[in-house]
Amino acid sequence: MVMASAGVSMPGGDGDPAAASTFSSTPECHRIRRRRRLALPAVATAAGSDAAAAAAAAGPSSREKRVRPASPSASSVSSLSDGSDGEEDVGDAEEEESQPLPPAGLQRPAAAAQAWPMAFGSLSVAGRSRDMEDTVSLHPAFHTWVDGSPMHFFGVFDGHGGSHVAELCRDRMHVFLSEELAAEEASFVQRLHRRKQQAAAGEGTSAASASGGGGVLQEEEERAWRAALERTFRRVDAMASLACACGRIARPPCRCPLAGNSGIVGSTAVVAVLVRGRLVVANCGDSRSVLCRGSDGAATPVPLSSDHKPNRPDELARIQAVGGRVVYINGHRVRGILAMSRALGDRMLRPEVIAEPEITITERTPEDECLILASDGMWDAVPNEIACSVARQCLQDGNPTAAATAEAAAGRPEPEARCSNAASLLVRLAIGRDSWDNISVVVIDLQHR
Ligand SMILES: [Zn+2]
Repeated sequence: MVMASAGVSMPGGDGDPAAASTFSSTPECHRIRRRRRLALPAVATAAGSDAAAAAAAAGPSSREKRVRPASPSASSVSSLSDGSDGEEDVGDAEEEESQPLPPAGLQRPAAAAQAWPMAFGSLSVAGRSRDMEDTVSLHPAFHTWVDGSPMHFFGVFDGHGGSHVAELCRDRMHVFLSEELAAEEASFVQRLHRRKQQAAAGEGTSAASASGGGGVLQEEEERAWRAALERTFRRVDAMASLACACGRIARPPCRCPLAGNSGIVGSTAVVAVLVRGRLVVANCGDSRSVLCRGSDGAATPVPLSSDHKPNRPDELARIQAVGGRVVYINGHRVRGILAMSRALGDRMLRPEVIAEPEITITERTPEDECLILASDGMWDAVPNEIACSVARQCLQDGNPTAAATAEAAAGRPEPEARCSNAASLLVRLAIGRDSWDNISVVVIDLQHR
């Protein structure tokens, strides 16, 4: 069985006209190297380039992820811009009663950690794949929100066509997000203040107090977090278009021998930000975040992201609206190349492939057991229900250490053994269930143990 890998099917096959135009200047040894860097199934890659060539010769039914021509109707290469603008509209305050902004620093992080516990662990492995293009990013307490609450960042990034965009996400995304959150704080405070003044001016109107001041605060906070995440994804994506496989980020683009094929290099990104009792998840691509919500002794999976597959009806409609095509070649692929409809990087696949994240914000409940972030190397082999059940069982069976509890209370926890064990178990389960891809799993425990 061929795993539905998230990778790309690259142009560049022998005798292929698209390949000639794209890769004609590339030395043969470099072409082989490029193919290896794709997430090829292990059967084709394990024995090196000879096996890969033999598998390629065996035809489209082979395990080898065949090199495909770009669609003749494909749109021309576009710039990195997705056309959206980064400006925040701060107007349109509603007729609601407002509460004063909680003064910065007055909330006690330790109290928040007590009310909303959090521990985490992860494992990221190449699995049966020869190349490693997955990365994870774990940054507890990466930012302090304006009210003093610690914010925690976790991300899974599944690269394709090379690992450097995934590595860029790993190294920069939390840094950019912290900057963007800081930039949002001033306008957030201003908006709250304005709404409070408007509420005071209209005091006595029955509509004013209908949703309560807490609703206004929450609304404005969520607006700020969404805006910060959207700008962060745009910044990382813009940087990805300047990134070369050699590791340089340069304008004008790098001219080293590795630079030629960077047009179809990208990464998924699924990011979870935990702040007080809220789970903010931003997703771009086909990595996934699932909340395990306990009820009556069982754990119900609640997906907090929706995979960006080219055949998802709304994504297909969006792609077709810009003149793009989705072709079925070992799965649905944009232009017959990329098996997902959104990604960071991949500038040659614009405008069909966009880097805009979908963002969900979920209120935590006391029943929430854990949050799982993982690449498709796990989700393709382990369904949501099984992953939740296994993680939950593993977390319940493990014993927290006193040191970990103290770390968590201080707001700067280190990876916790129970969570790392749960992540490890999920990775082993995926391998046991025939995953051929890289596998990355982050498990975030949401319970006091
Ligand atoms: Zn370079």
